[in-house]
Amino acid sequence: MSDPVRSVVRRFPGVPTLEGAGVRLRRSFSNPEVPLFDPFLLLDRFGSTDPADYMAGFPWHPHRGIETVTYVLDGRVAHGDTLGNEGVIGPGDVQWMNSGSGIIHQEMPQRTEGLFEGFQLWVNLPAKEKMSTPAYRGLTATDFPAQSTDAGARVTVIAGKYGGVEGPVKGIPVDPTYLDVTIPAGGTFDLPATAGYTAFAHGIEGSGTFEGTDSGPVVRGETVLFGPGGAVRARAGDSGFRSLFVTGRPLHEPVAWYGPIVMNTRSELVTALQELDHGEFIHHRRPIRED
Ligand code: FE
Repeated sequence: MSDPVRSVVRRFPGVPTLEGAGVRLRRSFSNPEVPLFDPFLLLDRFGSTDPADYMAGFPWHPHRGIETVTYVLDGRVAHGDTLGNEGVIGPGDVQWMNSGSGIIHQEMPQRTEGLFEGFQLWVNLPAKEKMSTPAYRGLTATDFPAQSTDAGARVTVIAGKYGGVEGPVKGIPVDPTYLDVTIPAGGTFDLPATAGYTAFAHGIEGSGTFEGTDSGPVVRGETVLFGPGGAVRARAGDSGFRSLFVTGRPLHEPVAWYGPIVMNTRSELVTALQELDHGEFIHHRRPIRED
């Protein structure tokens, strides 16, 4: 017997938040929601046509114990890190960065004429991987397989699998699926989610409803957490529905969180902060280019 269709158990409207050096964004979930989204820690959506809302960017800052996933919908972000990576990512591009034992990086939006918009998702690392060697994956829009279903939905696979197509981000400890799904007006879409895994969706554009849930359509900017079960069934409203769909294997481990550092115990946080103070935070480094 297959697992029942999942229902929405909580809705998160997104809270206006000032982050980095003064970027106005909307925070879907974060520290207060632990462990609801385990293994996911945070989802931020940035989006504005006013450069004053984003140009301050995210100057050099550390991370330890997590993976940060940046997905750009519109606009451009320049980045650099202590592994020596640098570049500019644009629409449809993804950075999947494993901070492991420690990375210091910056993410600086570039001034654009139109909209600057995208997401940052934080994915937790299991305790045994928190002090692993940092790694950076930079992927461009053309790296992601896109699929169309018989019902006219379009699915971009960033991580995990959909319909036998596997996304390019592989080997992540919590086995994530990260999809960008567009369903035409009135269309339906079934997404298989592994039983026991955490699953959530975020409305990018338009609106849609989920089977088994009678709390009204999910709209742009809203995040919904699904309860236990198997697949999720979405139906698009009159203007279609574009959403992120994310699932992952929960870790069920203690979370000790201080700003951009997420470990398992308070003493690990103290160690991290002491290492930052003493210039010993970075265990794996390639020089940052100076020019
Ligand atoms: Fe960061």
